[in-house]
Amino acid sequence: MKKRIFLSAILLLTLAMGCSQSGNDEAPQTKVKTAFITIGTGGITGVYYPTGGAIAKIVNKKREQYGIRATVESTAGSVFNVNAIMAGDLEFGVVQSDRQYQALNGLKEWDKNPQKDLRAVFSIHPESVTLLAAVDANIKTISDLKGKHVNIGNPGSGQRGNAIDALEAAGINWESDINAESVKAAEAPGLLQDDRIDAFFYTVGHPSGAFKEATSGRRKTRFVSITETDALIKKFPYYAKSYIPAGLYPGAANEEDTPTFGVKATFCTSATVSDEVVYAITKEVFDNFEEFKKLHPAYQVLTKKSMLEGLSAPIHPGAMRYYKEAGLM
Ligand code: GLU
Repeated sequence: MKKRIFLSAILLLTLAMGCSQSGNDEAPQTKVKTAFITIGTGGITGVYYPTGGAIAKIVNKKREQYGIRATVESTAGSVFNVNAIMAGDLEFGVVQSDRQYQALNGLKEWDKNPQKDLRAVFSIHPESVTLLAAVDANIKTISDLKGKHVNIGNPGSGQRGNAIDALEAAGINWESDINAESVKAAEAPGLLQDDRIDAFFYTVGHPSGAFKEATSGRRKTRFVSITETDALIKKFPYYAKSYIPAGLYPGAANEEDTPTFGVKATFCTSATVSDEVVYAITKEVFDNFEEFKKLHPAYQVLTKKSMLEGLSAPIHPGAMRYYKEAGLM
């Protein structure tokens, strides 16, 4: 938080300096008041962080027109982002579609505490619940995790809930059957390579820096299938089957795609954020869709239509205005 205030102060100072320099020979102009917005993401080796960067880049290009200055913050992940948006500490955040649903409906971390002001803007890339294990740990199925050291994710992350769901679906009690670690996904590859954990879960788009790092070390690794999910997918509207393409991480031992299940990354805000700001961001991302798609390989599968799927919170009126104007809704 301190860092944000400090960065904002630098920005204000830069703006003030810029104004006083041109102020001599020009009549003072009525400038649009700058709206500073911060986008909450995830760890820097995930896909949320570059996603926040991609959105900020596109929006900041039109700074003169909209008066919006977007910055990106690395955070603990989806659950943290929802809570920070609701507290007014962040204006936007990237949030797993399952977490959006749970927050809105008062489930899991938000048990009986529904976040009624949460608003959806658009959805982004698909994310797979990904389990990577050291080959020497002999983990070929999720049941082989029994007795192993497994990182299920930090509190505040999206993946922690998915890891627990996947373990429970396979009949594994995460509190008693495994040695569960709770560290951030950015630290897991290092722990695996240092023989300190046997496997880790991370719900993320592919390719990601975290899995590039984890699969290219001295210790050989393998993606583990998660297939005990039929009942899970039937029970929860936000889960769907997915797979991790074999070709993305040449360092991993897998020769074939790894079946698993997954969710979608979504872009969220609060009902209290202004329609103008949400409209501008939505418009810039959709109007520059082809450029946006090129900003990360995980966006390859995106279509404008797919970006309106997987949203359970009400769509923010600013975004809705654009979708109606563009004939997307
Ligand atoms: N899905 C993760 C979470 O919600 C973050 C993944 C990423 O940063 O790309 O915490």
